[in-house]
Amino acid sequence: MIPCDKCSTPSIAYQRYSGMHLCSRHFEEDVLRKIRESIREYRLLGHGGLIAVALSGGKDSSTLLYVLERLFSRRPDIEIVGLTVNEGISGYRTETLGAAERLARELEIPIIPLSFHEEFDLTIDEIAARKTTQSPCTFCGVLRKTLLNRAAREMGAMALATGHNLDDEAQTVMLNYLRGDIDRLFRLMPRRPQPGMVPRIKPLRKVPEREVAIFAITHDLFTPFKSCPHILRSMRLETKEMINDLEDRHPGTKYSIMRGFARIIDLQPEGSFKAVPCERCGEPSGEGICQTCQLLDLVKKGQSL
Ligand code: SF4
Ligand SMILES: [Zn+2]
Ligand SMILES: [Zn+2]
Repeated sequence: MIPCDKCSTPSIAYQRYSGMHLCSRHFEEDVLRKIRESIREYRLLGHGGLIAVALSGGKDSSTLLYVLERLFSRRPDIEIVGLTVNEGISGYRTETLGAAERLARELEIPIIPLSFHEEFDLTIDEIAARKTTQSPCTFCGVLRKTLLNRAAREMGAMALATGHNLDDEAQTVMLNYLRGDIDRLFRLMPRRPQPGMVPRIKPLRKVPEREVAIFAITHDLFTPFKSCPHILRSMRLETKEMINDLEDRHPGTKYSIMRGFARIIDLQPEGSFKAVPCERCGEPSGEGICQTCQLLDLVKKGQSL
């Protein structure tokens, strides 16, 4: 048994990047501190309002919902609503959404269910069957983002919270570097609020994935699921492996990637990104016709990008 470095009771987690062994109490304190710090940095919740939380039933969004409820249950000016998205992935999504609904019920948080079939008249299973050159994950990510933003905006949410953790964020930043896509990098954190876009907050962005998993397991928030049948070897997966390998050999790499990103964001030219309404659907877009409309056009015509 290795004792906690703060109180000498048995430790449950070791942080290689800090060199600390932590017991369950000090581990939880550390995770909550990182989450509070991230939320404070967004400077959005000071005056209260509605937080829409994107829920999938996985460990990240379950931890997010649990922690937000715990942090804000005594703030009468803050209301939390869960948003679930059914993308239409048979044998996978129904189970994870069942877990999301159970948790929301336990925490007495209302849920608004959304679905690709109802909104776009298409499911990810149908898109995958058409075998476009773009992976189903591309459609899934773009359509989900549009749907969540629209629903959060229509309910008057002041923020849309997602369960992205430190690993997800470091991967996204590194992927954009590797693709040379600095515009997209800036778009991850626009300097000004964008018309039609509900500000996104990622309260878990300073918590490594492994620590979110430990938190979820120790708080009974973890339900093991089969992987999505459409997941495939992608550049993101390769980037994830590369960063994990670097983190193993150089603990703290994931935090360094994010520190570098924060400095680049400070250099972002004013007005470098301005969302405009899509000419087709009116949703905010970086170009004339939004990515969602472009993807829907292509899949409906049976063409590929
Ligand atoms: S693996 Fe891809 S298709 Fe499956 S849920 Fe995730 S993004 Fe969607
Ligand atoms: Zn301790
Ligand atoms: Zn559009």
